[in-house]
Amino acid sequence: VSDKKTALVTGANKGIGFAIAEGLGALGFTVAVGARDDVRRKEAVERLRAKGIDAFGVALDVTSDDSVTEAAAALDRLDVLVNNAGISGSWPQDPTTLDLDVVRTVLDTNVFGVVRVTNAVLPLLRRSPSPRIVNVSSNMGSLTLQTGPVMAAYAPSKTMLNSLTAQYARAFADTNVIVNACCPGYVATDFTGHAPDRTPEQGAAIAVRLATLPDDGPRGGFFDDEGVVPW
Ligand code: NDP
Repeated sequence: VSDKKTALVTGANKGIGFAIAEGLGALGFTVAVGARDDVRRKEAVERLRAKGIDAFGVALDVTSDDSVTEAAAALDRLDVLVNNAGISGSWPQDPTTLDLDVVRTVLDTNVFGVVRVTNAVLPLLRRSPSPRIVNVSSNMGSLTLQTGPVMAAYAPSKTMLNSLTAQYARAFADTNVIVNACCPGYVATDFTGHAPDRTPEQGAAIAVRLATLPDDGPRGGFFDDEGVVPW
């Protein structure tokens, strides 16, 4: 049996998720590229392999119970889970005119998707000597900071994800499973129309750090490159 650790990154075919997969791969992890589209997943695996990374693809749509169950069954070892897959939801998201179907869609991916995937792979993670879970959140979910534009579906989805992270940490209190949330910053991806200067690699760094915390690392927190982000 190999000592090599395996990391599953959801939404790893592009953007910050791809950069997280690359970052963990460069540290010696075998990377499971979780992605819902067959072509995009295959291309991402090829791009990672071309960089010398030990990567394989796992078909994964975080909104589908069946897909998540099959993805978990395709893994034989798991040490790190990065719940990165996320959507903004369609505009407008003015709370006074909010289409609740937009809220449902966003929650299904950004929150329920995290629960689906986490719980499906938890039996595997618990067998790891140092299981780590990282939830990719956003400072737009911070009730203290109130950053970003008004986005009444997306921002609360990340607030709920942060709360969920704290709940998981409490549930894992007497175990070696360490879970935290991170904010990647405002990063140039399809998600932001490539408007900012910050690169996906820069955005990925905090997730990679939390994925490789030592056994006495923080639990149930919310962090960016600068340290603790207020809830
Ligand atoms: P992208 O839109 O570039 O990438 C999102 C990824 O999530 C894609 O791989 C996409 O797959 C995947 N995804 C979406 N829905 C599903 C699903 N149902 N099942 C599986 N995969 C899915 O966004 P970013 O890289 O910018 O964002 C990644 C994370 O970072 C998100 O959680 C986002 O909220 C968060 N974030 C981003 C910020 C930024 O400035 N970019 C700021 C703060 C947080 P596909 O290609 O198939 O659509």
